[in-house]
Amino acid sequence: MSSKTIALTFDDLPHPLYTPLLLDLLHREGVRATLFVIGRNALAYPYFVRDMVLEGHELGNHSYTHQRFLTLNLATIQGEVLRTNAVLQRLSGQSIHLIRPPGGRLNSSISRELRDLGMDVVFWTDDPGDYLRFKPETLEARLETRFKPGAIVLLHDNVPETLETLPQFLRYVRARGFSVGSVSALFASPAPVHKP
Ligand SMILES: [Zn+2]
Repeated sequence: MSSKTIALTFDDLPHPLYTPLLLDLLHREGVRATLFVIGRNALAYPYFVRDMVLEGHELGNHSYTHQRFLTLNLATIQGEVLRTNAVLQRLSGQSIHLIRPPGGRLNSSISRELRDLGMDVVFWTDDPGDYLRFKPETLEARLETRFKPGAIVLLHDNVPETLETLPQFLRYVRARGFSVGSVSALFASPAPVHKP
């Protein structure tokens, strides 16, 4: 993992009002992010999923109905995962391997189930809590104080303050010589050289 890369991830897409704004913003900023999509919403707004693919973003599974996996049995979880994969694969033409469970909580049998389904679970290293609707300057400060090499930053597209703050955060990150990309780009980037 490069010491000069961070990944941006957005959960709960697509949203009919905010997703187009987020995609516009990422386009202007030249950022390809990882977008965790709710299957049911993808079915409701398929054109936004196609736009995500056209813009070169990486798609991940965020379940079908956004229920916490710890409250579901394994058969239901399997249905949530496979239905979402099927919708996303049909809309994107890509096979989907990344998953972020709603709320980010798992236990060992759910983890095993997801692995058996061929899914790689993506958590995060930095949750600035954008869904708590901080003022933009507060959110920006939370992002900047937690910022560290190799970070996987958790954000949401349905938070207006996130859209407002993101350009400033990207300027901050880039001014420090970091590049910003998807989760796969982060793990594909060269390992840092550790000098004795
Ligand atoms: Zn979510």
